[in-house]
Amino acid sequence: MIVVGGGNAALCAALSASERVKRVLVLERANEAEAGGNSRFTAGLFRIAYNGPEDLKTVIPDLTDDEIGNSDFGTYNEEQFLDDMGRITEYRCDPDLTEILVKRSLPTAQWMQKRGVRFTAAWGRQAFKVDGKFKFWGGLILEAVGGGPGLVASETELAKKAGIEIRYGARALSLLADDSGVHGVVVRHQGKTQELKARAVVLAAGGFQANTEWRTRYLGPGWELAKVRGTRFNTGDGIRMALDIGAAPYGNWSGCHAVAWDRNAPETGDLAVGDGFQKHSYPWGVYINAEGKRFVDEGADFRNYTYAKYGRVILGQPKQFAWQVFDAKVKPQLRDEYRIRQVTKITANTLEELVSKMDDTDQKTALETLKKYNAAVRTDIPFNPNVKDGRGTEGLEVNKSNWANTLDAPPFEAYAVTCGITFSFGGLRINNDAQVISSDGECIPGLFAAGELVGGIFWFNYPGGSGLTQGAVFGRIAGASAAKSVS
Ligand SMILES: Cc1cc2nc3c(=O)[nH]c(=O)nc-3n(C[C@H](O)[C@H](O)[C@H](O)COP(=O)(O)OP(=O)(O)OC[C@H]3O[C@@H](n4cnc5c(N)ncnc54)[C@H](O)[C@@H]3O)c2cc1C
Repeated sequence: MIVVGGGNAALCAALSASERVKRVLVLERANEAEAGGNSRFTAGLFRIAYNGPEDLKTVIPDLTDDEIGNSDFGTYNEEQFLDDMGRITEYRCDPDLTEILVKRSLPTAQWMQKRGVRFTAAWGRQAFKVDGKFKFWGGLILEAVGGGPGLVASETELAKKAGIEIRYGARALSLLADDSGVHGVVVRHQGKTQELKARAVVLAAGGFQANTEWRTRYLGPGWELAKVRGTRFNTGDGIRMALDIGAAPYGNWSGCHAVAWDRNAPETGDLAVGDGFQKHSYPWGVYINAEGKRFVDEGADFRNYTYAKYGRVILGQPKQFAWQVFDAKVKPQLRDEYRIRQVTKITANTLEELVSKMDDTDQKTALETLKKYNAAVRTDIPFNPNVKDGRGTEGLEVNKSNWANTLDAPPFEAYAVTCGITFSFGGLRINNDAQVISSDGECIPGLFAAGELVGGIFWFNYPGGSGLTQGAVFGRIAGASAAKSVS
């Protein structure tokens, strides 16, 4: 069996297949130093359905009684996960695939844990301390130990231990296919193009976000101007190879996951910085664009439910950038990524001084906007970051619904961000066994798919932490189905 790709979906597929099949070969386009796809760039957050600490203990067995006592994990049951998927995707998500994603989320994490992947609770990123207790929010608890790099390193080690061969620097170019299905791949490895025969192929080669031309072709004009947050290797090869032999395109081809990302970040991801270029604390401040205006409700919902669609909103602003403005009151609440060295930031002791440092911006309008915003805040409602506190603004052209703090405590800070694309939503159509479906509606024998290159699950937006879960759930299914088909 051949698995194309070297990220979380591919490695889960390979591990799952190896439970049934002896010879599993993983083809990873990147060299070993850059291997691991987008999965390696992540924080390692997995969205799973759980009913409380008992469920969490099945995936985090070393969770201590003290830790449980000091944390309010709440619950995030299957209905909540399903509701989030429906609401966030405007009810377009494929019902069958979404139900599998949700229902298999906990069992898949349990399977990963049994195979040797270690998890912890995301105290650092997803909880705030209230009355001495860490209260989790946003339905997101589970984090791989060591984040994305730790996840990929552990999955790679487990794969090698299971006898799976990983060939680095091996770019799959096309599928070997005839009327009876798929029989292998054409690959270029160390400068040589060769045919590799296999009885089944799992495609897990990521989306097309790192392909500037496809981005502009499918996501629309202007998308060539976005930065790529993760790996430079996800250029849509897996999708193209399958479409070339008649696979059906599926899902939100003009949609993608895109976030606020440092304006001066490199064109594609830098593993040394990882996800540090992202700037996710906007719910505690305000956005100002080059015209000096606010343009989006920063507090419409918890960050996990808005961050993935706001990248597109920023890309749509004049000069494709915006400022995130904060004052000293919320500084302790800003995420770690605001304290990295590679940051585009200005500071000042007055709002007048702050706007004077805003290059490329209508400074006069920016000052007026900040003052109008300050005057519109419902200060009678207390600020509470753990709930949608309803502390909004009133009477503005663009109101802020929650967490509206006045900007009045110096020093003030502003961070320049642009749009960073994470992954494309459109991709291949699979059935419940992760078999790739043709445009005639039939299974393509011998071809399976998982991860970013599967379409139909995410539309318009995305609940944070679902990408790794999707790759793991469908990777595991694809590996098992492919193995079953050959044994
Ligand atoms: C900065 C950042 C932070 C993120 N944080 C999170 C998070 O905390 N939680 C979460 O759930 N999601 C997160 N995501 C999204 C998440 O990374 C993806 O949804 C998920 O990792 C996709 O897994 P995958 O295996 O499908 O793709 P990838 O991990 O990208 O793997 C695709 C692989 O295919 C290889 N490949 C490409 N073309 C070929 C070819 N022709 N031949 C052979 N190999 C090929 C690539 O080299 C790569 O190894 C984040 C993404 C980024 C960029």
